[in-house]
Amino acid sequence: MNILVINCGSSSLKFQLINSDSEEVLAKGLCERIGIDGRLTYQPAGGVKEVSEKAMPTHTEAIAYVIDALTNEDTGVVSSLSEIEAVGHRLVHGGEKFASSVIITDEVKKAVEECNDLAPLHNPANLIGVAACEKLMPGTPMVAVFDTAFHQTMPEKAYMYGLPYEYYEKYKVRRYGFHGTSHSFVSKRAAELLGKSYEETKTIVCHLGNGSSVSAVLNGKSVDTSMGLTPLEGLVMGTRCGDIDPAIMEFLAQKEGLDIVGITKVLNKESGVYGLSGGLSSDFRDLAEASSEGNEKARIALEVFAYRVAKYIGSYVAAMNGVDDVVFTAGIGENSCLIREMICKYLGYLGFEFDAEQNNKLQGIEGEISKEGSKVRVFVIPTNEELAIARETLALLS
Ligand code: ADP
Repeated sequence: MNILVINCGSSSLKFQLINSDSEEVLAKGLCERIGIDGRLTYQPAGGVKEVSEKAMPTHTEAIAYVIDALTNEDTGVVSSLSEIEAVGHRLVHGGEKFASSVIITDEVKKAVEECNDLAPLHNPANLIGVAACEKLMPGTPMVAVFDTAFHQTMPEKAYMYGLPYEYYEKYKVRRYGFHGTSHSFVSKRAAELLGKSYEETKTIVCHLGNGSSVSAVLNGKSVDTSMGLTPLEGLVMGTRCGDIDPAIMEFLAQKEGLDIVGITKVLNKESGVYGLSGGLSSDFRDLAEASSEGNEKARIALEVFAYRVAKYIGSYVAAMNGVDDVVFTAGIGENSCLIREMICKYLGYLGFEFDAEQNNKLQGIEGEISKEGSKVRVFVIPTNEELAIARETLALLS
């Protein structure tokens, strides 16, 4: 089955066409600047990447160009629309309503809409993508795969905040967690590498990208994760602050003359390693380079980042009463041997033995960075959220 995987944002849309039998990516690309002017990047497997300016006043035009590109006589990868047999949509927030992926129906769309308050930037955009696909591909089955679903197995003690209970009852204020598709995908793969049944493993996944989160996966189920009601909680990220003393908000509001919107913007967009490095960069490659050249703020930013990850790992070892393996994934986790090494330095107490040579070799490829005989094993596993969405779509439609 050929499955079109769509990740739709407010002004951009990423897509991949995946053959679910071979799990091959037939073509992939990106629509950008939707609602502004419009640019399509399209790359068929083994072919040349094309970038073209296209008028995209709405997401419908964007999807239409994607379909045109995929079915184009010369550079397309299928001969007609009927060869795209299903669409898998990434949806950010499923609230408490969705603990797994679902086939999209009118009721599902209504239920997702009811979660819009929890992800005002993402959910409405995701739904626009669904509507555009439905318009242009009537009759094609569509599946919703939620970022939050995998973490719905968390127990109350992990998802409740120490706030008045009525806020949970009235507004569903609780921890939800994100990157669920990735945490699920790599933790499953880790069980294969461990040679154990997924239902009998204690795995800690460190998804370290621009947005970063850690999860505790016990016997195949997420039991805790570092992101919360929103993706702002937890680790120090590219530009997000992660955990802070909440009283800092009022303190800074008064000192800087900012309102709650202004403060929230600082915490989301001007903090994290970007803020710590004095606005140098949110990209870990830039920070590593600057740090090696003696930039103190860049060094501190990297240390704060690694230390926070190590503290979360420690707390999840406690939550699961042990750990079999730790996994690094996403942009930083897959590529930065420096950050992995900085984090691994804290893990000796687990009986983990670090293989520095192996660590230096692994960039964007799967492998193990613990020495043979290490009590806890540490893996690098590239995440593949699009493939995970295609697998979920296939599973639901079969
Ligand atoms: P997201 O999907 O959250 O936007 P990614 O998972 O693609 O993010 O990760 C992007 C981040 O990965 C970049 O900010 C960059 O810092 C980091 N990254 C990518 N390659 C490397 C590398 N070779 N070394 C260090 N960091 C890297």
